[in-house]
Amino acid sequence: DEGLFKFSFERSPTIKRIALLTSGGDSCGMNPAIRAFVRASLIKGAEVFAIREGYNGLVQDSIIPLNWGSVASIINRGGTIIGTARSAEFRTREGRKKAAFNLIKNKINNLLVIGGDGSLTGANLLREEWFGLLSELVQEKLIDASIPESDLGKLSIVGMVGSIDNDMYGTDITIGADTASHRILECIDSILSTAVSHQRSFVIEVMGRNCGWLALVSGLATGADYIFAPENPPEAGWEDVMLEGLERGRVSGRRCSLIIVAEGAIDSNGNPISSSYVRKVLEEKGGYDARITILGHVQRGGVPTYCDRYIATRMAVEAVNYLFSKTATCEPMMIGMVGNRVVRKPLMACVKETQKIGALLKEKKFKEVVQLRGPLFEEFSDIFGICANLKRMNSPKKNYNIAILHSGGPSPGMNPAVRAFTRLGIDAGFGVYGIFNGFNGLAKGDVREMTWMSVNGWAVMGGAELGTNRSVPNDSNIEAIIANIEKFKINAILMFGGFNGYVGISNLYEYRKKYKQLEKVAMICAPGTIANNVPGTEISVGADTCLNNILDALDKIKQSAVASRRLFVVEVMGAHCGYLCAMSSLTSGAERAYTMEEGVTLKSLTADLKMFSNRFKGDNRIGLIITSENASSTYSTHFIYSLFKEEGKHLFDARESILGHLQQGGNPSALDRLAASRLMNQFVKLIDEECIKKGNAVAGCIGNIEGAIKFTDIEQMKLEINHKYRRPENQWWLPLLELSRRISVSPHDD
Ligand code: ATP
Repeated sequence: DEGLFKFSFERSPTIKRIALLTSGGDSCGMNPAIRAFVRASLIKGAEVFAIREGYNGLVQDSIIPLNWGSVASIINRGGTIIGTARSAEFRTREGRKKAAFNLIKNKINNLLVIGGDGSLTGANLLREEWFGLLSELVQEKLIDASIPESDLGKLSIVGMVGSIDNDMYGTDITIGADTASHRILECIDSILSTAVSHQRSFVIEVMGRNCGWLALVSGLATGADYIFAPENPPEAGWEDVMLEGLERGRVSGRRCSLIIVAEGAIDSNGNPISSSYVRKVLEEKGGYDARITILGHVQRGGVPTYCDRYIATRMAVEAVNYLFSKTATCEPMMIGMVGNRVVRKPLMACVKETQKIGALLKEKKFKEVVQLRGPLFEEFSDIFGICANLKRMNSPKKNYNIAILHSGGPSPGMNPAVRAFTRLGIDAGFGVYGIFNGFNGLAKGDVREMTWMSVNGWAVMGGAELGTNRSVPNDSNIEAIIANIEKFKINAILMFGGFNGYVGISNLYEYRKKYKQLEKVAMICAPGTIANNVPGTEISVGADTCLNNILDALDKIKQSAVASRRLFVVEVMGAHCGYLCAMSSLTSGAERAYTMEEGVTLKSLTADLKMFSNRFKGDNRIGLIITSENASSTYSTHFIYSLFKEEGKHLFDARESILGHLQQGGNPSALDRLAASRLMNQFVKLIDEECIKKGNAVAGCIGNIEGAIKFTDIEQMKLEINHKYRRPENQWWLPLLELSRRISVSPHDD
């Protein structure tokens, strides 16, 4: 289980002195990274320092000590509290010698650098030159001759990538990229409603000089007509191809056109493609009424999303892990993410691969560029090409019908999933059906053939157009279900939904024993639930949107307490699964999270009352407890609130808040839209491989495991289900509850 959370909270026997800096362009998530890094280091007994304004602070000795409180209340703030800059002096060897001197002077030999590839190159150079720099400093009698051989003379460096562009080799995602795509989607979703009303064309320019990630994900997530990204440059004559594509869309009923241009977009000859040129083509050649919106710096700003807070926290804790490991004095490492897992990679190798891209772009070796961008970039480009009706495979008809239904509560991402299912399915030659209103709808024959345009506009929509409910196959409806499977000649059913749907598919599978007709029907589940309580996946689609909704509410609730000493007890959804509670605590800085998995006892409540009393006696003006619905049937959210209100009344006031259905609503997040499309793409591939080529009527589920979409056979899937509590038997995130607690409450108060 490499990459899942591991951290020893034991103090280290040696006291390390550790410094961190943020460098290059700022990105949302740097602050949560700083917070987690500082606190995890303090827990290990380290002394921690901030180097202000990037490498400038290192060259100029602007280094200040940090304590627990220095990083309080920053988890929800964009930018970086320690400042960032570009330092010309650090690019020179003289500058780096000053930096080395200042590190030695401050007795610091552990360094975290958060920045882009330039910043990490600088860090690596400092490490490579380190002993040379020290011996020069000795010769110049600026430091003692014993230092190069001493412990202080051994420099450990670790890097984390903060970049909105998601342009680093070796990590699926960089800190800040998700918030940037979130900001872009907020803007495009708003523009789309006016574009559709007026039948206008919009050209949206997004950031990304060398990297088209933001253009690609925002294009895929909004159902854009065309994307211009440096990695996938169009051939000469693209103007006509674009206009033909738009015309096809209009003829088939699209009411607006949306074109996304990365600021560094080029054509296949390397000539820049500007948003104003695209507009000119639209107006002069195509006769469209076209507008440009250049999103600019809004993309860098604002409140960090759940994903950025989460990855920043996980990476930062792993960076501390690394600095306290035996290998820390060897090669500098970069901390990255593969799917949901934290990984360590040799820093310079990742930087070198990343920097190759600039040269390859100049040499117009675009295929190699896309490969270096990683498998996700390639897969998303392919999905976009098909769903936008630009690069279709147009596979021959297969005489094989696939049908999709939802089951369980509504979850953001269901509509983008059906859209991708429909278009990827049609393109692959399948007959595609939508089953309305879950298994009950199937029993009633509420089944319709889906066409390319029946999912027009669904890429951005929350809710579930197909409808969803909690019905499952049972003795009273199974014969009607089978009759409709036969009537519509359904060969494979995909249930995209929550726990109930997994039970539904398990039931349907059991009926294979009695009804032989079902043996030929493939039946697959894919995770679409905010609660993340289903087997065969680390993350379900919908949870990300939900956590963003929760954080949005928590940030507002916390702000409402500015003038008073107040403890909030906030209840979140999740049925019997504490995932939303654990993850919203980790990323909001809540002091306590109560889940059913850990249980709530009188002993823990008493200890927590003491902890909050200590905090409110000191400088703290606000406290936050997050409870999972059903955490305890006896000690309910209202009970906990009443207890703290009464017992703490001399020190603080208490408020109770149950977030309720706002958690399920809203447009799906960028991550959920992408994850839904990727799952559908892999579903279509699975059916092609297993059912069409090998003739297996597979049954089971697909989900995200270790960053890849994997299939779990139904027998294994059933073993992974805890029926009593309606959640998976093993929940990878449980150890994060302790991390959340430890980095939110100073050891002094606990
Ligand atoms: P962004 O994603 O915003 O471009 P970046 O880290 O790549 O982030 P840069 O401006 O390239 O941004 O680098 C930030 C700082 O890192 C530079 O101002 C410089 O101090 C240092 N740096 C970058 N490249 C080098 C290098 N080759 N040698 C030494 N220092 C460097």
